Amino acid sequence: MRIAIISDVHANLEALTQAISIINRSNIDRIVCLGDIVGYGANPNECIEIIQRHCPETVLGNHDAAALDLSITRYFNEYAREAAEWTHDVLTQKSREYLESLPLIINDHELTFVHASPRRPAEWDYIFSNLEAKVNFPFFTTPICFIGHSHVPQIFSEHRSHGPIRRDDRYIINVGSIGQPRDGNPDLSFGIFDTKEWAYEHIRAPYNIDVAAKKIIQAGLPYVLAERLYEGT
Ligand code: ZN
Repeated sequence: MRIAIISDVHANLEALTQAISIINRSNIDRIVCLGDIVGYGANPNECIEIIQRHCPETVLGNHDAAALDLSITRYFNEYAREAAEWTHDVLTQKSREYLESLPLIINDHELTFVHASPRRPAEWDYIFSNLEAKVNFPFFTTPICFIGHSHVPQIFSEHRSHGPIRRDDRYIINVGSIGQPRDGNPDLSFGIFDTKEWAYEHIRAPYNIDVAAKKIIQAGLPYVLAERLYEGT
C-alpha cells in the first residue's frame, strides 16, 4: 500500500489542491492528514472540505484546536493569535463539528500518526533535535511514527542508521508542511510511504504562492503571513 502523508495545510487552498493533484498522479491508496488544516491562511472551510473528502484518517493539530477554543492561543505569537481569531470567526458550524470530531493520534499495526509528539499529543511539544526524538521513541510501539507541527521535514532514527528507511530501525518522520513550509524552501512538502517496499519518499513541489498570499492580504490577515510563504519561513 502506498500512503501519502500530508500535514500543516494551514488553510492554504492553492498548496493543498496542488498536493492533491500530485497525489492523484502518484498511485496512492490512502491519504493521512496530520492536522493543522486551518490557521494562518485564508481558506479554512474550503481546505476542511477537501481534507474531509480525501483523508478519512486525520488527526487534530494545535491550530485546529485553537480555532475551536481561543484560550489555547495564549501560547501563540501575535500573528498566530490574530489568525486563530479570524479563523474562529469564519469557520462554519459544519467545519467546527468536523474539527471537534478529530482524534489526537491514530495507530495501525505498523504506523503511528500524530500532529506534534507521540509522548504528549495534547501538549503540542516540538521535535526538532535527536534528543527530543529520543525521549519520544518509547511512547509508540510501531516501527514508524509520522509527525508534522514544526513545518520542517526531518527524519530521526532510533538506532541512528543512515540512508534509506530500514526494517531493523525505528523512525520518527516529519513530513513538513503543505501550506507554510519553514525550512527556507517555499515549495509545499509531504511524504509518501510504501508499506510493501518499506520505502519513504519526500515530495517537494511549487504551487501558486501569489494567489494564496493575495488572499491572505485581502482577508485582512497579518501581512507577514503572506510574506513568509515566499520565504519558506
Ligand atoms: Zn502547523
